[in-house]
Amino acid sequence: MSDLHARHKAVLPDWLAVYYKDPLEITHGEGRHVWDADGRKYLDFFGGILTTMTAHALPEVTKAVTEQAGRILHSSTLYLNRPMVELAERISQLSGIPDARVFFTTSGTEANDTALLLATTYRRSNQILAMRNSYHGRSFSAVGITGNRGWSPTSLSPLQTLYVHGGVRTRGPFAGLSDADFIAACVEDLRDLLGHIRPPAALIAEPIQGVGGFTSPPDGLYAAFRDVLKEHGILWIADEVQTGWGRTGEHFWGWQAHGQSGPPDILTFAKGIGNGASIGGVVARAEIMNCLDANSISTFGGTQITMAAGLANLSYLLEHDLQGNARRVGGLLIERLRAVAAQLPVVREVRGRGLMIGVELVRPGTDEADPDAAAAVLEAAREGGLLIGKGGGHNTSVLRIAPPLSLTVAEAEEGAAILERALRSVY
Ligand code: PMP
Repeated sequence: MSDLHARHKAVLPDWLAVYYKDPLEITHGEGRHVWDADGRKYLDFFGGILTTMTAHALPEVTKAVTEQAGRILHSSTLYLNRPMVELAERISQLSGIPDARVFFTTSGTEANDTALLLATTYRRSNQILAMRNSYHGRSFSAVGITGNRGWSPTSLSPLQTLYVHGGVRTRGPFAGLSDADFIAACVEDLRDLLGHIRPPAALIAEPIQGVGGFTSPPDGLYAAFRDVLKEHGILWIADEVQTGWGRTGEHFWGWQAHGQSGPPDILTFAKGIGNGASIGGVVARAEIMNCLDANSISTFGGTQITMAAGLANLSYLLEHDLQGNARRVGGLLIERLRAVAAQLPVVREVRGRGLMIGVELVRPGTDEADPDAAAAVLEAAREGGLLIGKGGGHNTSVLRIAPPLSLTVAEAEEGAAILERALRSVY
């Protein structure tokens, strides 16, 4: 065990999990690469769990942060904050939500907490609908709406949560149905559930489940849900912490694949917008955002230093059409990985959109999740110089691939080749 690992274990909580038997200490990065404390270089296909959205050490972000740091890091929410107003203006316009207001937090968890506070206050109900296999964070309220039991160790939530079918397309009681029949079955299930309970405050859902293994329902599922929810006045909260900012290639937000019945009532975001600076946030119609009788929720969200990073990062993303790059390079990468998978029966499915790609592993000759293989492939990929993630229910048998959105075709090819070698070395 390295000295730093021993010190980590001695002073940090046991549940603060780290990847790899010999955990990595990443000391710096550039573009799509990072280096460890021994000077070893890795191609980064996980971006700190989709946090490094554009590129590591992006000069535009470094410059903006450095200049801002030379002026002031944070002045409190009690004073006007120019970069906060500017980033809120841009996000409100991009969100698609009419008359949108934006509140900044410091993480995705806190963004979801705020969304729950808004929805429960606005609707005067502490009942929430969430998706099975979902992940929304692990604060006191977020843990209670996280359907993925491997990640929600307590049920002592202040909320009453009911879990809905639909996030996972390929497993569960509705697997094997056509897209239209799957949507119809999930909608019928939702209607049945609502027939038994008082109308809840909101449904919270990730358009593509992230921690749950990059599972994607058929396009239009949430639009169909929305029609039912609207009949009961129930709000829709789209958790875009992983799916936002063009990562899925085809759309800027994940909800747009389900956009027929309009934007969500509340949208939460985090991770990528700061490119590593701690930004989370909530967007909602003014009527919903302003339902709270409060002065603030936190005085620390939207610090000048993080807002400067977010503005520079967002400008770079839009000016360089990284959404288009995610669509093109992600499409090639998915094709390449599917060709590899066709030769390896242990790969159950390669799925994804843009640069959000899941590779689900099963025990040879079965349909059973294979978490041991996923852990072994993760180690072997690292040995080969590639960082990836894993996820997928509590079985964590899905390899998660989510590189910075500026990934080049050559890097996609290189990463796919390393992953192929890692998969073959394990099976
Ligand atoms: N929502 C989703 C969909 C997430 O994937 C995550 C983090 N993995 C969160 C919320 C929580 O975000 P954070 O870790 O920034 O608190």
